[in-house]
Amino acid sequence: MPYVKVKELLAMGKKNNACVLAFDAADINMIKSVIKGAETAGRPVIVMLYPGMRNIMPFGVFAEVTRYYAERASVPVGLHLDHCSDFDMILEAIHEGFPSVMADGSVLPFEENAAFTKKVVEVARNFDVDVEGELGHVGTAADSDEFSRKEFFTRPDEVREFVEKTGVTSLAVSFGSAHGLYKSTPKLDINHLKTLSAATDIPLVLHGGTGIPDDQLAQAFSNGINKINIGTEFFNLNTRLNQEFYAQDFSKADPFGFPEYIQPRLTEYIAGRLELSKIVL
Ligand SMILES: [Zn+2]
Repeated sequence: MPYVKVKELLAMGKKNNACVLAFDAADINMIKSVIKGAETAGRPVIVMLYPGMRNIMPFGVFAEVTRYYAERASVPVGLHLDHCSDFDMILEAIHEGFPSVMADGSVLPFEENAAFTKKVVEVARNFDVDVEGELGHVGTAADSDEFSRKEFFTRPDEVREFVEKTGVTSLAVSFGSAHGLYKSTPKLDINHLKTLSAATDIPLVLHGGTGIPDDQLAQAFSNGINKINIGTEFFNLNTRLNQEFYAQDFSKADPFGFPEYIQPRLTEYIAGRLELSKIVL
């Protein structure tokens, strides 16, 4: 079943009126734990690489490692390149084996964003690679309270035009979330989301999944969000577990013991978060 296209996973989400969870990972412990957590929960999952992390594992290594474990998994696993606004880097990731990429032109004006995204889709199509675009702008929570500012929200009237012009497989939209850690509890605008999902048939994506209360996530998932990106929460846990392990009695902090220490704890977190995904396999 194992290594499947992100497009198929999102279709599964859409059919179930539910959401596929996607986690950013950076190293082999994180990749293995995402897949193992999905097996424990019996849910599909998407492993993502944020391009800035490719100094830990280059594109090709990350793709091969994920594929290796995905092919041996008991649940469907997808692989996706998170936020990238650099055309050449996206091409590099595709050549190195990424079957799904995000073309993020969200800081550009509408026409430039559409042109950039379309250019990526045209190339990606030749390699049967899925493309996620972004319309509106999901900002950074630490910068300000910009996640609640409606001028950054995706406009429903632009959604249809953007999807038609670019041919994207899925679309990240903005309706009240932000990347990183929120200063105060975010409030997703579910009514706004409804207007966005009414404007298109393609799966919509929620970014900035760390810190949004579960009841709000459940509402988003039953109103058109078929993929959610979770990064900060997982990375913070990974960092804390590293600190804990190496702060122990040094004789215990051996390289053989580390994977045994960290992987079950990361796996438990992933399996717990995957309870949010109601996808029935
Ligand atoms: Zn994002």
